[in-house]
Amino acid sequence: MTDEELKQFKDALSITAVARSLGIDVVRGKCRCAFPSRHAHGDRTPSVSISEEKGYFRCWVCDDVRGDVISLVQRYKGCSFVEALNYLRETFPFLAPATKSTSAAKSTTSVKSTPTAKSSIGPYHNAAAQTPQEIYATEPMPMPESTTTEELVSEDERKKIILNFLKMLSPVDGTQAAAWLMGRRIFKPVWDKMLLRTIKDYGLLNNTLKGTYSMEVLQYVGLFNEKGNLKFYKHPLIFPYLDTQRRAFYFQSRALESSVIPKEMNLRGTVPYPYNMSALDEKPGWVYLCEGVVDTLTFLGQKIDAVGIPGVRSFKVEWLPLFKNKNVVLCMDKDNAGREATNYLQEVFGNAGIRTVVLGEGMEHLDSSIKEGEDVNDWFGGKR
Ligand SMILES: [Zn+2]
Repeated sequence: MTDEELKQFKDALSITAVARSLGIDVVRGKCRCAFPSRHAHGDRTPSVSISEEKGYFRCWVCDDVRGDVISLVQRYKGCSFVEALNYLRETFPFLAPATKSTSAAKSTTSVKSTPTAKSSIGPYHNAAAQTPQEIYATEPMPMPESTTTEELVSEDERKKIILNFLKMLSPVDGTQAAAWLMGRRIFKPVWDKMLLRTIKDYGLLNNTLKGTYSMEVLQYVGLFNEKGNLKFYKHPLIFPYLDTQRRAFYFQSRALESSVIPKEMNLRGTVPYPYNMSALDEKPGWVYLCEGVVDTLTFLGQKIDAVGIPGVRSFKVEWLPLFKNKNVVLCMDKDNAGREATNYLQEVFGNAGIRTVVLGEGMEHLDSSIKEGEDVNDWFGGKR
């Protein structure tokens, strides 16, 4: 896991959901300390505060009981940083970046792996046996954010380049992309509303971009591949992620041929907000939360307010304030990853006081219900 992946993974986790997974009773942002013996009455009145917003916990008595989701697992399980990270990856697999090898995770974290003194007394005591110094020794190294990625272009500059790239693209009308969309029963009013774009002349666009920016910059912002060519040769349909002012600094691209893998590509970097965030207007009402842009567009075609996340792993807890005043219909795919994500999202929205229902729940007996392995687009009669 790279530093950026680690950061994204941590950001995506709800600290309350993590605490509950450890069997910790969290009530109104409070829980009992991992070291009850240090407290009067065994910390019967909880001393640890959990901030869902900041992804942080802190004991008001013990100076060493505080930190992020990983520290939380370390303290309450009495394990090392690497063990805590592995626990989180196993418990929330759909949020973890695709695993390459576990040794990669270890190499980024120079941690003294404490030989696990497996005491049978239980996790709390295992941790308590360590002196505070030892506990600090297993603390994750501070993230070397400023040193790892030297910025080739500023964030503002990067946004301008993406915006300019999107301006160079063509509307989908009359193209192969349009045929593909219509095959999924997504029609022109939706193309226009969401400013869908396509690459009409790949060669020309490739050369224009090369003539406009240096190769280093084009690769840095994620538009060009290592071979020095524009990506998206096989992914010509572009879904810009419009902000409230209908500008986009992020997009996804889609293959039109069913044989192409992966069928979708995400622009490098962090997903800044859900797709179609303008549906999150703070007005009381319902919003459908979909997996993927195509499902979102399908709902929009039915005049249903919907937002999308690029994949089950990409929901970020920091987006919760955007869902203010909304009730959320969870529309993840009917498969195992989708169901796990649904459980997680129910918990995360629930903690934030946002009501959720699951699309199709309670309708399983109907012939018209969504079948196993189907998504929303299939359900509305789109075809693959
Ligand atoms: Zn404490």
